[in-house]
Amino acid sequence: MIDAGSGGRAYRDIRESVDILLLSHNHFDHINGVSFFPNAQIWASREEAPGYEDAAVYASYNGYQHWEKLMGQPRHRRFGQTTKMPEDIPVSPGFIPVPLGGLIDDGQSWDTGHEHIIALHTPGHSHGHCSFWLETSNILFSGDIDLSPYGPWYGGNYSSFDQFEKSVRRLELMDPAVLTTSHRRPFVRGEDNIAQLLREYIDIGLQKEHNILQYLKVPRDFQDIADQPFVSTYPTRTEYTQFWSRMMLLKHLQRLERQGLITEFDDGQWRRI
Ligand SMILES: [Zn+2]
Repeated sequence: MIDAGSGGRAYRDIRESVDILLLSHNHFDHINGVSFFPNAQIWASREEAPGYEDAAVYASYNGYQHWEKLMGQPRHRRFGQTTKMPEDIPVSPGFIPVPLGGLIDDGQSWDTGHEHIIALHTPGHSHGHCSFWLETSNILFSGDIDLSPYGPWYGGNYSSFDQFEKSVRRLELMDPAVLTTSHRRPFVRGEDNIAQLLREYIDIGLQKEHNILQYLKVPRDFQDIADQPFVSTYPTRTEYTQFWSRMMLLKHLQRLERQGLITEFDDGQWRRI
């Protein structure tokens, strides 16, 4: 099985029979249900392995250390207190250690007898994010490269839009018969133009970056840029969607600065060069 973020009802009939559980990355909505599978050997990417063992490392992945600076006030409520989950999903507050039985590197493979599964390290969403290619049936599971209509999410401390872009290009070249993600329906070659959907998806991030660059023709401070409607693509505005949008904005500013297109002045204003 790949990922375990659903509730107990979905897993009722397979709890005893899953012997290998592959985790795409260590966000809560992919790992909440690991305790349902007592017989499973759990595999996760080498890069994120420390986050399954150590609460402080796990916490550092969220980027909440930047909350006060980006949001202008301390973080009062946990994400779990702001979002209601179905009652069969075991959401415990805080960190749950996950004992790993194997570490995934790019190219790692498993043979189930029916299927040959190959791991692809596709960072960007998180630094250890993996996709899985079911080679025999040419099905690509792309995890949280999820073709969300709101575009890619790269709001974690070790998320990277540069890496996200590279990972999406890599998947685009694979031309799978079926692309299945963590959060939407499966996409089928012949009915869906998978390569184009992947390009349109990453374009949402690129368009945001283009708008930021246009807006910086005159000097602006971070709060001013963050308040612009093009910075957030989410239909709802909660403290968390606002925080993630700001984390992603920060990554675009740093990326544009690395590319030599903008600079930050001593007074905290950003501007095009
Ligand atoms: Zn995720």
